[in-house]
Amino acid sequence: MSSEGLRHSLLDWYDRHARDLPWRVRPGARAQGLRVDPYRVWLSEVMLQQTTVPHATPYFLKFTTRWPTVSDLAAAEDGEVMAAWAGLGYYARARNLLACARAVAQEHGGVFPDREDGLRSLPGLGPYTAAAVAAIAFDRPANVVDGNVERVISRLFAVEAPLPAAKPELKRLAAGLVGDDRPGDWAQAVMDLGATVCRPKAPLCGRCPIRDHCAAFRTGAPEAYPRKSAKAERPHRYGVAYVLTRGDHVALIRRPPRGLLGGMLALPTTDWRADRWSAAEARAGGPAPVAWRPAGEVEHGFTHFTLTLQLMRAEGEADSVIWTPRRDLDALPSVFLKAARAGLSNLL
Ligand code: SF4
Repeated sequence: MSSEGLRHSLLDWYDRHARDLPWRVRPGARAQGLRVDPYRVWLSEVMLQQTTVPHATPYFLKFTTRWPTVSDLAAAEDGEVMAAWAGLGYYARARNLLACARAVAQEHGGVFPDREDGLRSLPGLGPYTAAAVAAIAFDRPANVVDGNVERVISRLFAVEAPLPAAKPELKRLAAGLVGDDRPGDWAQAVMDLGATVCRPKAPLCGRCPIRDHCAAFRTGAPEAYPRKSAKAERPHRYGVAYVLTRGDHVALIRRPPRGLLGGMLALPTTDWRADRWSAAEARAGGPAPVAWRPAGEVEHGFTHFTLTLQLMRAEGEADSVIWTPRRDLDALPSVFLKAARAGLSNLL
């Protein structure tokens, strides 16, 4: 079958099996005059980078209820948006989100540019998001390639080069399938196929609408694609986090605006280094000269390294901290929320 046959089969499947997601309109809705809101498409795409649909969905609903338009989001306080983002991780995305919303509100009258190059000129909006918004919100024939699409394409063509080196080839092969007919639905159809049928493990080839075109299926071992290079080990680091309480309040700090978790509320910590901290070092490094006691440790994985936070716990006073009620700790990024809960559960 031709690539037209493949496109037809997949779009037909999408018409019947598209995922029902809160930022979407139903397949083919554009042809019936239904408008896709670029703000919702953009927001969902930013949230979905490195995050699953079930995890991102409540955040999407919270953001769009609180800030229904891009201009509403642009007018929000930085701290409010960062707190609402807490738990989604990759906090640089929240800062870029605000910068982009403000540029749309102030320089484009609250209206997103409707072409990929115009979208690329917005701060913090990378090539993937520009392509996704151009295709999904404006039905432009843009080549939208996320992890799901890479997997589908690598299997469809049985690409032997391993990831990540294969990325340019996968992008080129994906571009060859983009057409002028329903490009927004096409982008979402490939993503949906990857998310629900052409899954990373145990792909459901028996239910796949493009099985007759699939080279990996013919090999009998589709799961072996995409090929992967041996993973580099992530380095491990150690830090000390301090859980200081004053009655029902916990001492927090705001991290410097740049760098990892920049601008976020956090527990006070030492630097993060390759060696474990000794008990004496841990006691000396706290935010106040109080009677620190070890309170266990927690592990956390970041993209580029893993971290052990050695916990120290005390009750007392400190200067230059933000005393925060325990019930408000949910606004902390996951790593500090985990550490705070573990430290607090360790009774003095
Ligand atoms: Fe993926 Fe199997 Fe479909 Fe090929 S046939 S695209 S491996 S689900």
